[in-house]
Amino acid sequence: MNTPRHFSSCVAEYDPNALPVSAAQEIVRQWALPRGRTEAERVRLFEALDRVLAEDVISPINVPSHDNSAMDGYAFNGAALLNGSDGSDDELLRLTVAGTALAGQPFEGHPLAAQCVRIMTGALIPPGCDTVVPQELVQRAGDTVTFASTHIVNGANRRLAGEDLAQGQPALRKGRIVRASDLGLLASLGIGDVAVQRRLRVAFFSTGDELRSVGEALAPGCVYDSNRYTLFAMLRRMNVEPVDLGIVRDDRASLERALRQATQDADVVISSGGVSVGDADFTRDLMNALGDVAFWKIAMRPGRPLAFGRLWSGKRPGEGESALFFGLPGNPVAVMATFYFIVREALLAMSGATPHALPLISATSSQPINKRAGRTEFQRGIAHRDTAGHWHVVTTGPQGSGVLSSMSEANCFIVLKHDAGNIDAGDSVDILPFNGLI
Ligand code: AMP
Ligand code: MG
Repeated sequence: MNTPRHFSSCVAEYDPNALPVSAAQEIVRQWALPRGRTEAERVRLFEALDRVLAEDVISPINVPSHDNSAMDGYAFNGAALLNGSDGSDDELLRLTVAGTALAGQPFEGHPLAAQCVRIMTGALIPPGCDTVVPQELVQRAGDTVTFASTHIVNGANRRLAGEDLAQGQPALRKGRIVRASDLGLLASLGIGDVAVQRRLRVAFFSTGDELRSVGEALAPGCVYDSNRYTLFAMLRRMNVEPVDLGIVRDDRASLERALRQATQDADVVISSGGVSVGDADFTRDLMNALGDVAFWKIAMRPGRPLAFGRLWSGKRPGEGESALFFGLPGNPVAVMATFYFIVREALLAMSGATPHALPLISATSSQPINKRAGRTEFQRGIAHRDTAGHWHVVTTGPQGSGVLSSMSEANCFIVLKHDAGNIDAGDSVDILPFNGLI
């Protein structure tokens, strides 16, 4: 467990007024350790989707359990291919059909060298047989099949016992986020429940005197609180447990109450708003009283102001429960960009999941894009793939960090690297498709 005050000194190696995104990500990575309060629980397969495996799953059986046929055809001893061959190209091999093997209904006998067994996909390979010729390749007349031996090699079209999953080997690793195929895979092993990590609890709230809740009248100068809905949705998508703490007014007592409660209740606390210049002074004192929190100006757009650190629920830092804290900026697009590029990986790591990098794709920019060197920009883009298979991208237009419609209109982030300057039409840029992310 990181001790209070350690954090500020670790951040001190960087310039907090211009922290590159990669440096911020690295610091968060060091701090977002799997939580100490982790408890595993066993859940039935139908509840295991998107959960994090708490231990390796060792295969109790071979899958498939026996050698079986990969095709509908005829099974025989492949040595017959060699014995019956005179080496000529157009040679035909002739075998007599001794019986039939169906999936779930094995052929009981033991075919002789010149015999074969009619076999269907998934049926057990009969004793003495090791090769299957697909039915499309044979001519059958009565009980006799003939086929060109050049079409088939010894051992063809046979699935070996254990070739999918070998008994005693790890079938899925601890830290895996369970996918659809994994549920099927676990079922194929006869496993009906698995140990998964307790879902990470993430408390979130919005700050701002100007915020109104949906359903309230909108007084002049006020805005509806949209960040809580966006955050709720992003958290749900990550299958963590969201704890909604509502809107918190811009005063010290309210904020302190919310933070203490959140730290008590949750593994991670996320707020939005109140970290930009001016507000930051007001919250900084409080954060320092409750924990070890640094205020950053990350060299990213949107998402420049951000507070990060650890909070404690007790009287002094180091006492009571602790939670990782992300104070995100208030602007709605900045909330989303910082969530995906700063918060997301931390939630995965704390959930006990093995973090995986976001898959960036190269695309050609169809237009010039203004970009300032010295910060990473996450513009909203609309990408499409041409008939030749190349990706092209345009921006959604105005890129203000309050323009939330740009996120709804976009299908990707255009990720413009820290060192890059203006982009010309035809330049290559990285895009991060929203598909599967948002
Ligand atoms: P702040 O970071 O608190 O200075 O807020 C920056 C901008 O984002 C201001 O225009 C706020 O009104 C707006 N904002 C802050 N929080 C929210 C929210 N929860 N929903 C929508 N807009 C917000
Ligand atoms: Mg505010």
